[in-house]
Amino acid sequence: ALLGLTQTEIENALYRVIVEDGRLDPGDIEKVIQEKRQIIRKSGMLEFYPAREKMDDVGGLDALKAWLTRKRACFAREAEDFGLDMPKGLLLIGVPGCGKSLTAKAASSAWRMPLLRFDVGRVFGSYVGESEQNMRRAISTAEAVAPCILWMDEIEKGFAGVSGASSDSGTTQRVFGHFLTWMQEKTEPVFVMATANDIERLPPEFLRKGRFDEIFFVDLPGEAERAEIVAVHLRKRRRDPASFALAQVARATEGFTGADIEEVVKSGLEVAFLDDRRELCDQDLIAQAEATLPLSATMPERIEALRKWAQTRAVPASRPGQAAEVASEEQFRERRRIDL
Ligand code: ATP
Repeated sequence: ALLGLTQTEIENALYRVIVEDGRLDPGDIEKVIQEKRQIIRKSGMLEFYPAREKMDDVGGLDALKAWLTRKRACFAREAEDFGLDMPKGLLLIGVPGCGKSLTAKAASSAWRMPLLRFDVGRVFGSYVGESEQNMRRAISTAEAVAPCILWMDEIEKGFAGVSGASSDSGTTQRVFGHFLTWMQEKTEPVFVMATANDIERLPPEFLRKGRFDEIFFVDLPGEAERAEIVAVHLRKRRRDPASFALAQVARATEGFTGADIEEVVKSGLEVAFLDDRRELCDQDLIAQAEATLPLSATMPERIEALRKWAQTRAVPASRPGQAAEVASEEQFRERRRIDL
């Protein structure tokens, strides 16, 4: 956790944490990470993202979670001595609201590495050479804080204009090129976690072998995954999932994203509260689910296109056999009418 700090910064950080309880133990790692936060704030390009989410807060996505758990060990000096390459990064592509950002935050907690959010859009400045310099500064800050996770959300938006004619005399391309070269050659333990929703706008260079260690596709959650997500959000709101018919709620939420499911739990809870503060029951959740038109119903073609694209280019983030049916808005309404 002290890696990347100067000797004086290390001394100051250690003095500060030892003085609190007269000891230096694993509990102090978190406090040392807090010290690093100050360095990052000064850079302006990156944002230190406090990650409170744990792996258990991510429902489903078992293959992705297992991969992250396995990869953790590959950062150790022992792995390097053994001849392994330092993990480079991960690209998560998928349906919005299904847990891509959540997984980045959970990885940061599980790996005990600070999460730095890198907003690529902020790199681009109006002066000659400013953008290139900003990109270099962002990278060197991340390296100073390493080991860390560099989280780039919706990467396709940040580098929009790389493909096709852009009007900025090639600045975007140069900045992008610099970033790609760094990704390819970096030796510091800066793990890039990039997310993307729109494959059409994603520069193909990102998909080339050797850029990322793996490309995962995050699909709509399957039935068993939805039950897990319902349980996560009940637990978060201090309800015991064991006292709910999770399978039934999972069936009522076919085609829902994780974010849609969270909304169902939140609004069910609100209904119960406003109804004389009675306790939340299965029926509240099912009624909310039935009153919701999930995001997937508004863009079935986009989801189908994503799935088709991912078949040959990405690894499923869920364990096998977890696929939700995607229905259009009309099909959705028709199905509900029949159910009634
Ligand atoms: P976007 O591309 O729109 O940023 P995303 O895939 O990154 O979407 P998140 O931001 O991770 O989605 O999800 C939004 C919220 O929905 C999360 O904060 C979480 O509360 C809930 N959620 C989504 N997926 C899951 C999941 N698999 N398990 C538990 N909660 C989930």
